[in-house]
Amino acid sequence: MLLKRIGYWFETPGEDTRYPLPQLLQADYSTAQRDRLIEYLSQGTRVNQYRGYSWCRFLCGASDEEMGSAELTDGTWVWPEGLAHYVSEHSVRLPTEFVSTIHPTEQAAEVPEPTVSDEFWVSWAIEQGAVPDFRGWELLNTNWLSQKETQERLLDAIRLTAYGEHVLPEYDFIFRVAVNTNSKECLVELTDDRYVCYRVSEFSRDMVPNIVSVREFKSILDWPRIPAGSAP
Ligand SMILES: [Zn+2]
Repeated sequence: MLLKRIGYWFETPGEDTRYPLPQLLQADYSTAQRDRLIEYLSQGTRVNQYRGYSWCRFLCGASDEEMGSAELTDGTWVWPEGLAHYVSEHSVRLPTEFVSTIHPTEQAAEVPEPTVSDEFWVSWAIEQGAVPDFRGWELLNTNWLSQKETQERLLDAIRLTAYGEHVLPEYDFIFRVAVNTNSKECLVELTDDRYVCYRVSEFSRDMVPNIVSVREFKSILDWPRIPAGSAP
């Protein structure tokens, strides 16, 4: 049985999951519609239990228990148990395809050995213009920039810029930097939630990267998004 997964969110620049930012999906549900949706999302059969709790992307301070660590299903769709929170607390919009098919269930869905697909959710999210465009980007701690010396040279160059004092400590740094080796750019998450994109002359093991231009983004919400109509 193939379940359509919904309700997964963008996590880290450089991780090419094509998940959306919930801040860009605002709903105008009526109170009745919303209550019905929240009730439905709170029911469902538990299918997958993960090791860690999810966290609210609006950073509202919701508890671990509220965000949950399991997935729920109705036998057609599957969603994280924290999805109800996004609808109730942040008026996040879900696909019409899902909302229009929900129906009260009298008994728990039987889901023998389900498999899950993100395909619908990702395509829908791109059509909404809600997915940050990190095609071609990767995290700094993967692949070719993995050499410690290169990382340190890049870090040294960035620390010398106007944003240097807001750069995360070194350990966090390698998990908060995405690089695009085609466009020769790197994106750094600062300690105050801003992002800075540096274009460098060359990524090289043998030289200190020369920063040729800098763009600042107030938050990840300002980053370019995958245009609607693009293939997922
Ligand atoms: Zn929240």
